[in-house]
Amino acid sequence: MTQPDLGPLRDGQTVAIVGGGPAGIACALTVQREATRRGLHIDVLVFERKRLGIDHNQCAGVLSPPILAILRREFDITLPAELLRNEIHGYVLHGARDSVLLQGDEHGDATRTVRRNEFDACLAHCATERGIQVIQAQVTDLEFREDGVLIFTWIGTFRADVVVGAFGTGRVMEDTFSHSTAYTPPPTLGTLVTRFHPEGHARPIIPGLLDGHIHVFLPPLPRVEFGTLIPKGNHVTVIVAGRKLRTDDMRAFLALPPVREVMEITPDEDQFYKGRFPVGLAGHYYGDRYVTVGDAAGLVRPFKGKGVTSAVITGGHAALTLFEDGISARAFGAFARRCAEITGDLWYGRLVRTAAWMAGHWFSLEPAIRRAQTDAALQEVLFDCVSGRETYRNIVRRPGNVGLAVKLGLATLPECLRRKG
Ligand SMILES: Cc1cc2nc3c(=O)[nH]c(=O)nc-3n(C[C@H](O)[C@H](O)[C@H](O)COP(=O)(O)OP(=O)(O)OC[C@H]3O[C@@H](n4cnc5c(N)ncnc54)[C@H](O)[C@@H]3O)c2cc1C
Repeated sequence: MTQPDLGPLRDGQTVAIVGGGPAGIACALTVQREATRRGLHIDVLVFERKRLGIDHNQCAGVLSPPILAILRREFDITLPAELLRNEIHGYVLHGARDSVLLQGDEHGDATRTVRRNEFDACLAHCATERGIQVIQAQVTDLEFREDGVLIFTWIGTFRADVVVGAFGTGRVMEDTFSHSTAYTPPPTLGTLVTRFHPEGHARPIIPGLLDGHIHVFLPPLPRVEFGTLIPKGNHVTVIVAGRKLRTDDMRAFLALPPVREVMEITPDEDQFYKGRFPVGLAGHYYGDRYVTVGDAAGLVRPFKGKGVTSAVITGGHAALTLFEDGISARAFGAFARRCAEITGDLWYGRLVRTAAWMAGHWFSLEPAIRRAQTDAALQEVLFDCVSGRETYRNIVRRPGNVGLAVKLGLATLPECLRRKG
C-alpha cells in the first residue's frame, strides 16, 4: 500500500528539478500551471549549472513540428522572432555517388533553427517570470530520506519532497542518482560537433546557406553511424555520431567526396565538441521520491532528432503524475504509461537503426537512393525516417513498407556482391 506521504502533491510541498534544459523547464512550468489550477501553493526549484544564454550547448537547435505548437498550447510561450534563425526546407540523403531530396509536410509550423543556449535562456526566463526559482548552481549530491530529499549544491543544501532528474547526459548526476537510487544511465551514442563559418566569422545570416536543407550521410566509416551538415543562419553545424568516436572520424567524414561535394570544410580542432545522446531507456528511471525525464531517462526517440520535443513532453508528463498519482515508485508507473508512445517505439527504432547501419556499412545505399529519386512512396518513407515526422512503429507497420524493404534489399544485393567480390 502507498505510504500516505508519497501520495499526490499537497499544499506547501516542494518539487526540486535538477537541470534547466527543456525537460526541466517544461516540468517546472507544468507543476506551476497545475498547482495554480488546483489552488495549491507548491514551491518549484530548478537547479541549472550552466550560465543560461552564455554557455554553449551541443544541440544543433533544429526545432521541427510540433514543438513550437506545444510551447504555445501548453505554456502560452511564443518564441520571439529574433530567436528563430533560418527555416529548414527539407533533407538531402546522400549515398557514395547519388543523393535524393526529401521534402514533406510536417503538419504545422515550419522547421526552424535556434541557438540552443538562447532557446534555453528564453524558456528559463519565462519560468522565472511565472514565479519559479531557477537557481544557478551545480547539484553535487542527493540524500533520500523518509521525509524528503536533500539536494546538495555549490551554494548550499535544499530540501524537497520529490526530485525530478532532468540533467540530460550530465555524468555527475548520473553517478549521484546511480549511487543513491536504483537508477542506471541510459545507453548512449557519442557525438562530435564542429561549426564552420563559410565567410570567416561573419555574424549576418547567409541567405540560401546549403539551400536551407539538412544533408544526411550514412558513411562507411567504421565508428560513424551517421553524419549531418545543418545550415544555422550564419554557419554550418557538422555532427558525426557513433561509438568511441575520435577527432580523426570527423576529419575522415569531412574528407569524404560526397561531403566535399556539398561543402569543403576545413576543420578547426579548437572548435570540436564532444557529447552524446541516449539510444535506449535508463534503468529504474523512477522510484520513491524521484523521477527522471528527457535525456536523463533515455526517453527520446532514438536516432531521429526531436530530442527537445521528447524532453518537453516527458517533463510535462512527470509533472502531471506528481499531482494525479503521487511521488512513489508505484505512482510513477502512471508516468511510464504516459510515455508509452516513446517507449513503445524503442524496439522499432533499434530495427531501423540497424537497417541504416547495414545499408551504410555492409550494403550500399545507392539502389535505394536511385529508386527514391522517382518513387514517391519510398521518398515518403525516407522522409519519415530522417525527419522524425512519424514514429518508427508506424513506419515499420505501414502497409506495403515491409514489401518495399524486401524489394530494396534484393535490389541492393548485386552491388553488395560486387563490392565483396
Ligand atoms: C550533437 C547533438 C545535436 C542535437 N541536435 C538536436 C536538434 O537539432 N534538435 C533536437 O530537438 N534535439 C537535438 N539533440 C537532442 C537534444 O539536445 C536533447 O534531447 C535535449 O536537449 C534533452 O533535453 P533535456 O532537458 O532532457 O536535457 P538537456 O538539454 O541536456 O538539459 C539538461 C540540463 O541539466 C543541467 N545539468 C546537468 N547536470 C547538472 C547538475 N549536476 N546540476 C545542475 N544542472 C545540471 C545541464 O547543464 C543542462 O542544461 C541533439 C543532441 C546532440 C548530442
